[in-house]
Amino acid sequence: MTVTAPVLSGTERFRALGPQHVDELAERYRIPSHLRETIRLVSTVLPFRVNEYVLGELIDWSQIPEDPIFQLVFPQPGMLLAEDERQLAALARSGDGAALRATVRAIRERLNPHPSGQRQYNVPRRADGKPLAGVQHKYEQTVLYFPSQGQTCHSYCTYCFRWAQFVGDVDLRFAAPGPHELVDYLRTRPLITDVLVTGGDPLVMSTERLRGHLGPLLEVESVRTIRLGTKSLAYWPQRFVTDADADDLLRLFEQIIATGRNVAVMAHFSHPRELEPELARRAMARLRATGVLIYCQAPLIAHVNDSAVVWQQMWHAELANGAVPYYMFVERDTGPYDYFKVPLERAAAIFQDAYRDLPGLARTVRGPVMSATAGKVVVDGVVTDRGGQALQLRFLQARDPALVGRPFRARQSPTAAWLDELQLDPDTPEDIAAAVRGTAVA
Ligand SMILES: *Cc1c(COP(=O)(O)O)cnc(C)c1O
Ligand code: SF4
Repeated sequence: MTVTAPVLSGTERFRALGPQHVDELAERYRIPSHLRETIRLVSTVLPFRVNEYVLGELIDWSQIPEDPIFQLVFPQPGMLLAEDERQLAALARSGDGAALRATVRAIRERLNPHPSGQRQYNVPRRADGKPLAGVQHKYEQTVLYFPSQGQTCHSYCTYCFRWAQFVGDVDLRFAAPGPHELVDYLRTRPLITDVLVTGGDPLVMSTERLRGHLGPLLEVESVRTIRLGTKSLAYWPQRFVTDADADDLLRLFEQIIATGRNVAVMAHFSHPRELEPELARRAMARLRATGVLIYCQAPLIAHVNDSAVVWQQMWHAELANGAVPYYMFVERDTGPYDYFKVPLERAAAIFQDAYRDLPGLARTVRGPVMSATAGKVVVDGVVTDRGGQALQLRFLQARDPALVGRPFRARQSPTAAWLDELQLDPDTPEDIAAAVRGTAVA
């Protein structure tokens, strides 16, 4: 099958393609008609966004639908219940717009749009008691900052746990129009050393906008590290190479580093293919030349990267490009979770297989990690104790610092895919058991 795709010179301006381009894309890439229909229907419920770089450089069109990058960005059969898909199809044919919208809303509600209670539990208060917009503070040293103009991405991942905000389901007023309230908060909390700017993807913002958000943070002496959570190295490396303000972005990072601070790009790579294009590798080299540190993380996802070989190749490629493998996450229960989930025991086996032959410099990676209400919990693997086989777990991060680093055990289960599906060992210390049950919300 030959496919005529536009040839990319690397200098194109960014343009997002979405649900309204499904027919155009189906024609261009000869997507079979049943699949085109599913993409159209599922993208009424879940976010869909792609761009010419992902289409032309990352997806292998001769391998669809199994191709991992096609699975990463295009809605798939099986992401919704067959019954829901049928109902959407019938309503779309009937032309009853109001009924279609109501059904879409009902399906979204059933897909657990707001997992782990992040918004409720971790929002700090201003001096006057009002919640601080666009800030979450869960772990002592680090705050998350959500600039309002960074709440989208260059392309969307079908497994995104923040998917609800991309379909306008969530009140985006939670995001921060500017950093001034955060700066006030940071001045009263000298233990906070890290500001992790996230979204969406903060690098969808222009450099000028980003400078407006980051500059004021540097007035606070105790802030030592600015982290930027981004998938732009995978989805739009032009951001660091050929975009009109790419050079300005690198200058901005150099200026922050010149104040004696760290700038860390927390790069989201889902598959080693994302590190193959020349443009992506140039983007990483240019970032590194400014003194930026690149740390890499991604969730483990069925159909996308649920094999040890994939992770092993990815960690090798990250290291080869001067980046640090950091976290392998466990997917959360939201969106098309049943399609993507990988049981914890299998996740631990994939991690171990991929980790085994890594050079020491890449053994910085931890996983599989659940980012849960109580903290970040790693599954170290299956051990045998007097009760039989058990899962060995450990807190890497916790709301309560007294839990950090402490191991605990749960009954082995071939199907459990999240902390709340595990049965803890009866000897588990009460503080750990309470945190895991989620009753110890700080
Ligand atoms: C993961 C995470 C962080 C950063 O944790 P590190 O282990 O320092 O990378 C901060 N805040 C929240 C809410 C997180 O989930
Ligand atoms: S890049 Fe991150 S925030 Fe954006 S869709 Fe993917 S997982 Fe979600």
